Amino acid sequence: MVIMKSVKKEAVECETEHFLMAQKQLDEIALEMGLDAELHERLRYPKRSLIVSIPVRLDNGKVHTFTGYRVHHDVSLGPAKGGIRYHPEVNLGEVAGLAMLMTWKCSLMGLPFGGAKGGIRCEPWNMSNGELERLTRRYTAEIINLIGPDKDIPAPDMYTNEQTMAWIMDTYSVNVGYTVPSVVTGKPISIGGSLGRQEATGRGVAYCTRQAVAHAELKTKNPAVVIQGFGNVGSITAKLLHESGYKIVAVSDVYGGIYNPEGLDIPRLLAHVSEMRKVAQFSGGQAISNDELLVLPCDILIPAALGNQIRIDNVANIKCKIIVEAANAPVNPEADQYLQEKNVMVVPDILANAGGVTVSYFEWVQGLMHLFWTEEEVNQRLEQIMGRACQQIFDLSKKSGLRLRMAALRIGISRLAEAKRLRGLYP
Ligand code: NAD
Repeated sequence: MVIMKSVKKEAVECETEHFLMAQKQLDEIALEMGLDAELHERLRYPKRSLIVSIPVRLDNGKVHTFTGYRVHHDVSLGPAKGGIRYHPEVNLGEVAGLAMLMTWKCSLMGLPFGGAKGGIRCEPWNMSNGELERLTRRYTAEIINLIGPDKDIPAPDMYTNEQTMAWIMDTYSVNVGYTVPSVVTGKPISIGGSLGRQEATGRGVAYCTRQAVAHAELKTKNPAVVIQGFGNVGSITAKLLHESGYKIVAVSDVYGGIYNPEGLDIPRLLAHVSEMRKVAQFSGGQAISNDELLVLPCDILIPAALGNQIRIDNVANIKCKIIVEAANAPVNPEADQYLQEKNVMVVPDILANAGGVTVSYFEWVQGLMHLFWTEEEVNQRLEQIMGRACQQIFDLSKKSGLRLRMAALRIGISRLAEAKRLRGLYP
């Protein structure tokens, strides 16, 4: 790898383990595809990063100051696009690494967006609805100069949802003096959300899983699936794969998991979770821990919770044939290498979970046009875009011998590199 000496950065604040993982991926594919060294250097760091202090009056009357972030990695292809997460482990490096992944993902899917990400370091599960609303509104006010329908369009991520997006949209609109639905995606339908958006990420994961099964030529007709995380993405994926005849043998959430080698009754489990807010104590399976869940024997493992779940210390115990990365960066680079040597197919995050940003794009377009599509139209267009991306990646992987992750990165980065070359460098 050639890194320009003259622009060597000494101590960059975002260089956490998470960020360095994303950067290492870029370095690997840049070397493989012979990416121009100066362009490579430009892509190794975010374009801009904002850190904000967010004072919030808590229900006990005291003011607590939280830390929030918004990072734009690259905006050559269009406005920045990326989710906002609320979690105690949020930091600048994590947000910057995820923003980089968003750049590759939008480019890979052929969307007119750059990559962004945001977050607030907090424990959302220990906060009341009122506290979350005040936190969200003040954060929006602090980052208001960065966002806008032509600049940067946030969306939900971990522990944020439709309601969070409604508060952001309202705060932004009140500040500019008129209603701007297209400043966020993942909004409730009644204020300009798109039909099919809430299910889109899970729908995309389920689609990629079926494609992977076809390419891996699995012998079984009803593959056994294990899913870590049973929130928006994990639960919809489980529902759709169950409807396709797959056998979901185990699922988990932050409190632990449940296992039934004969297959879980997913409709009954969904009803249980909607009432109890957790999978634990579901009567149709035995309790297991999250660590045990990851190493269960199965055909397909779908991590749909956090990053960095499959690492060098647990990868040797993993017994599946296919991993579909529904979460962002759930497999770390050393584990990825190991899985490749063991011939485990890994469907990378920038493809597997791209259904969400794709339907976010549809929501943004519908908002700008003031014209809304039916759910069938949304799902059909999603399948078209996911289908094209899957086909390109599987074809390139077959032709070049690149693993799926590298093939996906190569396609995404090539498109972006072409755009940057054509636009040139200002001044
Ligand atoms: P969510 O908040 O709805 O659900 C997260 C789930 O993970 C919950 O069931 C939670 O209990 C579980 N979880 C949290 N910590 C865990 C742990 N330590 N072990 C096991 N389970 C744990 O979030 P989501 O929207 O479903 O997102 C899940 C993942 O998918 C995230 O990595 C997110 O970045 C990624 N993603 C989401 C979208 C989207 O549209 N929602 C799009 C792209 C990527």
